[in-house]
Amino acid sequence: MRIGIDIDDTLIDSVQVVRKYIKKYGHLYCKNNELSDLEGELLRGKLKNKIVTDFFSNHCIEISDHIRVKRYAKQVINKLHEEGNEIIIITARSDNYYKNAQEYCANYLKKKNIHYDKLITHQTYKYKTCKNEGIDIMIDDAIDTCEDVIKLGMKAIVFNSKTNINKDTTCDRVNTWVEVYNYIHNLKK
Ligand SMILES: [Mg+2]
Repeated sequence: MRIGIDIDDTLIDSVQVVRKYIKKYGHLYCKNNELSDLEGELLRGKLKNKIVTDFFSNHCIEISDHIRVKRYAKQVINKLHEEGNEIIIITARSDNYYKNAQEYCANYLKKKNIHYDKLITHQTYKYKTCKNEGIDIMIDDAIDTCEDVIKLGMKAIVFNSKTNINKDTTCDRVNTWVEVYNYIHNLKK
């Protein structure tokens, strides 16, 4: 199987660290909770607001360096890889904020000892990437991405996060990487 995997809030726990840094530096960019209200935009890499772009330009590397891999993500991804599945990491992270997103993400994944076949950065419309890459199943915390992928006839599962849990979707959801492993194995039965 070709398995597509998102990075932020799917492979790694982004939201807590982003919140911590908004608390730490937010007051330098705006008053009140304006940045917190734009947290979703920040996490999804769809930055339209100047406050968000300024904040993220200055702190994204510092933030990313402090984000931890989700529990069992490494073990499950490496096991799926070992079992002959192809692991395609697909992220919206781009050079706009990471200087060299491809290199930054590759180094991060190497440091965390995560095995994969291909890393594709700069992907704002991941459903198109999934189609082009012949992905069988995409794992992402972004509900719209998962729904678009399913519309194109592929499979997708929503990785639950603090930012998507209250949103409705007909997509299947998982809470943990162990559930991802079981889900993929059930598909093969
Ligand atoms: Mg994400």
